[in-house]
Amino acid sequence: MFLDGQWVQAVSGDVFSVTNPATGEVIGEMPDGGAADTTAAIAAASAAFGSWSTTTAYERSAILYKAWQLMVERSEDLANLMTLEQGKPLKASRFEVSYAADFLQWFAEEAKRVTGEWLPSARANQRFLSIKQPVGVVGAITPWNYPISMLTRKMGPALAAGCTMVLKPAEATPLCAKAVFDVFVDAGIPAGVINMVTTSTPAPVGEVLTSDPRVAKLTFTGSTAVGKMLAGAAAANLQRVSVELGGHAPFIVYPDADPVHAAKGAAALKFLNSGQACISPNRLYVHRSVAEPFIETLTARVAKVKAGSGFDDGVGVGPLVNDAAVAKVANQVDDARAKGAEVPVGGERLETGDYANGHFYAPTLITGVTTDMLISHEETFGPVAPVMVYDEVDEVIELANATNYGLAAYVYTRDISTAFKAFEALRFGIIGINDVNPTSAAAPFGGMGDSGLGREGGHEGIDEYLETKLGGFAI
Ligand code: NAP
Repeated sequence: MFLDGQWVQAVSGDVFSVTNPATGEVIGEMPDGGAADTTAAIAAASAAFGSWSTTTAYERSAILYKAWQLMVERSEDLANLMTLEQGKPLKASRFEVSYAADFLQWFAEEAKRVTGEWLPSARANQRFLSIKQPVGVVGAITPWNYPISMLTRKMGPALAAGCTMVLKPAEATPLCAKAVFDVFVDAGIPAGVINMVTTSTPAPVGEVLTSDPRVAKLTFTGSTAVGKMLAGAAAANLQRVSVELGGHAPFIVYPDADPVHAAKGAAALKFLNSGQACISPNRLYVHRSVAEPFIETLTARVAKVKAGSGFDDGVGVGPLVNDAAVAKVANQVDDARAKGAEVPVGGERLETGDYANGHFYAPTLITGVTTDMLISHEETFGPVAPVMVYDEVDEVIELANATNYGLAAYVYTRDISTAFKAFEALRFGIIGINDVNPTSAAAPFGGMGDSGLGREGGHEGIDEYLETKLGGFAI
């Protein structure tokens, strides 16, 4: 763990093992922290806040730039570590490291653009000035599916704003988190500004982070259930909260779309990170008039996706995070089959040969999906593409919006009017229009409803870490 500028063991002396999800092999161990370690980390972050928050924006920007440079220089090592620990194909790991580094560069720049306002007053002898100041100590909790970029998407803006931090990374991917901290240490981050508590038992760490009055803000990325629980606990302490949670993205193919292009997009997007992405399409709505070429192309594409170790050439999907994840996917596919869906590709666990010790599920296509099936409303988080054919164009937005989630949605159309109407009517935070990658460090990322509160990245990203202060000056 990293406390007050030092790599330390847990107070208890306990450790936990980190494994490769493709092989089950133990690849490292980390200190198993708890409440006492978290309190010590908060004390360090709190003590460092005074000096860090009063550095100039230019000084903070310089450290973030240096961290960006180091991350780019180390990108091949970081990508290899990510594939070893998280399992995604090496090409995807390289892409994630580059995306992660972008947040450091973007917020190095945004640090220098935190400004205030000079406001008019109704009184001739009064002037108003508003300024933005860092909120204070930030508690951050991150997931395993994007084990480097989910850290920099929080650390970039928090540090740029002048906040100090305590991070709890996911139990499955603490080695990636440690490598990110190494980057910051080598970039010259002062002691106490960033602290990390690793643990195999997250609840006590979450309880301390949401109840210690020295923590001003909680930023969380993970499941909706845990996010709601932590946001509730933080509310009792009036902590600021931003939570990036689960999703159930619709992917709408309109009758005027190019069905082959749309199917290629769906295949490219659905199997990213083995389907373990919050913006992964979970419901593919295809108009009956274009269903045949769409399904034909998608079938051919899915059949070509190879599962395996992320280090092997030609592998398109790696392992899932653990056995529970495989069981959840299998349950959804079995439920769909039992309710009448067809499974032209995949539909089974991969458990023999090279797959024997990992957590693999075959890249899968399901057709004939209906709203009574689990997969129509439960987040899948696995390599399964469920297709639903629709007839009424006027009803598809309503079908797409029929979820409590509201993170990402995708639309394929060649009609500008349809594109604009869908963009405005879909109740989701991120809409891809003929586009399967509507994300960037420069763009606001976040959801509505059960998908969360707040935005990360873009100009909005740094606001989450700033407080507005008003000065009324009688002159
Ligand atoms: P998760 O179980 O909620 O875990 C996320 C983080 O919360 C992990 O660090 C986890 O620790 C920690 N945690 C779990 N229980 C906790 C507790 N009681 N108190 C404090 N911390 C606790 O979610 P996950 O399965 O790792 O991640 C997948 C979910 O994240 C999906 O729903 C996905 O859609 C969502 N996600 C959303 C975004 C977004 O930007 N909207 C991005 C990526 C992922 P452990 O690792 O020790 O369990």
